[in-house]
Amino acid sequence: MRKPVIAGNWKMYKLLAEAAETVLKLKSLVTNAGHCEIVIAPVFTQLKTIADRLEGSNIQLSAQDCASESEFGPHTGEVSTSMLRDAGCSHVIIGHSERRQFYGDTDQSVNKKVKAAAAAGLFAIVCLGESLAERDAGAEENIVKGQLLNGLEGLTLADTERIIIAYEPVWAIGTGKTATPEQAQEMHAFIRRTLAEIHGETVADGMRILYGGSVKPDNIASLMEKGDIDGALVGGASLEAESFAKIVNYK
Ligand code: PEP
Repeated sequence: MRKPVIAGNWKMYKLLAEAAETVLKLKSLVTNAGHCEIVIAPVFTQLKTIADRLEGSNIQLSAQDCASESEFGPHTGEVSTSMLRDAGCSHVIIGHSERRQFYGDTDQSVNKKVKAAAAAGLFAIVCLGESLAERDAGAEENIVKGQLLNGLEGLTLADTERIIIAYEPVWAIGTGKTATPEQAQEMHAFIRRTLAEIHGETVADGMRILYGGSVKPDNIASLMEKGDIDGALVGGASLEAESFAKIVNYK
């Protein structure tokens, strides 16, 4: 059985005091949520403080990105996966569409980051998704397949156990436009079939595939009813403890 994951991506929205206050509220609202894994992703500078606040709770910590190099070295401005471990992270988001669109992430750099995450024993939440123009052109499966194959290229079986996929159609991120549960299910099933072809049935059956794109308290339950949707990566609606807790407590 795949345990669902509900992950909140706080992007670049909070100063430390607000992040710490949100965590405090969130902890008290999700104490009974044993049905899923809960992950939050603050900015780099807040990771250690938030890790300390999360100690003993059922909430895990993620970074929003990582360096593609895993060795120490002359990489000004970068933060390595071992440094994320050191700060208390168990997860890292890789290849978010904002990083692909605006900060130069490519399938190749995503693959290097995924390998760096594996080397540090982090869970990698690997984001995939097509743009509106690509969907309108009927190319969504090809695009997502390419991102998936290139992003996970060369991983060992053990590495794949720490991969979580997040399917996030770019046209649904921060737009209020959610993919219908049927559209999301169709793509998730396609991703799982593709995983089965490349990495085998066991890997495909075990991998969590999250949906992301305007997930809110009022649409999470209908998404989670679908057989291949194993959780959500949530942006806007994760910023307030109350709304994120409602998503976590979708059952
Ligand atoms: C995201 O940034 O990963 C995301 C899904 O954002 P939102 O929920 O705001 O669409």
